[in-house]
Amino acid sequence: MSRLADLPLRPELAGQEPYGAPQLDVPVRLNVNENPYPAPAAMRTELGAAIAEEAAGLNRYPDREAADLRADLAAYLGHGLTAANVWVANGSNEVMTQLLQAFGGPGRSLLTFPPTYSMYPEYARNTHTAMLHVPRRDDFSIDPDAAVAEIAERRPDVVLIASPNNPTGTATPSELIEAVLAAAPGLVIIDEAYAEFARPGTRSALELLPGHPRLVVSRTMSKAFGFAGGRLGYLAADPAVVDACRIVRLPYHLSALSQRAARVALRHSAELLGQVAALRAERDGLADWLTRAGLRVAESDANFVLFGTFTDRHAVWQGLLDRGVLVRETGPAGWLRVSAGTPQEMAAFRDALLEVARELD
Ligand code: PMP
Repeated sequence: MSRLADLPLRPELAGQEPYGAPQLDVPVRLNVNENPYPAPAAMRTELGAAIAEEAAGLNRYPDREAADLRADLAAYLGHGLTAANVWVANGSNEVMTQLLQAFGGPGRSLLTFPPTYSMYPEYARNTHTAMLHVPRRDDFSIDPDAAVAEIAERRPDVVLIASPNNPTGTATPSELIEAVLAAAPGLVIIDEAYAEFARPGTRSALELLPGHPRLVVSRTMSKAFGFAGGRLGYLAADPAVVDACRIVRLPYHLSALSQRAARVALRHSAELLGQVAALRAERDGLADWLTRAGLRVAESDANFVLFGTFTDRHAVWQGLLDRGVLVRETGPAGWLRVSAGTPQEMAAFRDALLEVARELD
């Protein structure tokens, strides 16, 4: 058996680790911003029947265009969007990889605003796209002047803003996105993976789509819909952007089972999204509690909270894990990220953190 180091791997992949948070079988998993509530019973029953029906046609390739699912997603998004404005793939990670395959590439650049989603450098690496950065301010907001100045000077082919941002939870105001759109020569992608969790008054970039043909809004069913295992991400944009994705996508990239399962989940969107309000309340309660405990807490419009700062965050992470609570060691030095869970999970997290604090004191 040969070792990876012996293979003629692309040099930029040498020594790299596969991306991913630890997948550990512990009682309280609050590390990857999943929805803690399992799919409702009615949805599961319907899904079983739909998959059985779909199975009869599995000898055939799926609809390459995923036309029905795209129409359903357009109806969910509203804003006058149609199937022509929507594209789908296996998670928004694949959607964004396709966007960079189409609009990034050798000699091209991607501008991001760290600390931000840790997959962005991997999309760039995998598509041979150069990375540019404008660091966020101390409160994790984006400095509009710095953003516009960097765009004017470096002219990135793609600007990518997560809003709400992961791992900080920070939403980016529409005015700033409009300023970026006015300055950017290329594509502007707003990654709204956590949009449904935003506090009232936060405006989605979907509102800016009319009149902005280079704006792309990326969404996912992994978070609010509780469909992370279903792997369904999508985007809304001008139909020409969708055409670009159709050029680079692999044929039949989205299985018939994924398409059908996502359509069933969408039919249950009212029930699934009903949990979002509960999760927002847990998030706010969690942020208040952490603040009262004397910690720093980043203001969050997502289903997680970044908190700290700890001299030895790994010791805190390990202490929590020893008590069956898995959080994420990510973000700037000293900070940890915890997802909003069920009331029981939140209580377990609070108890464990108090114990760890006493132990490390
Ligand atoms: N964007 C952001 C900001 C995320 O946090 C995540 C998941 N952690 C994704 C995209 C990817 O989600 P998925 O591929 O499950 O749609």
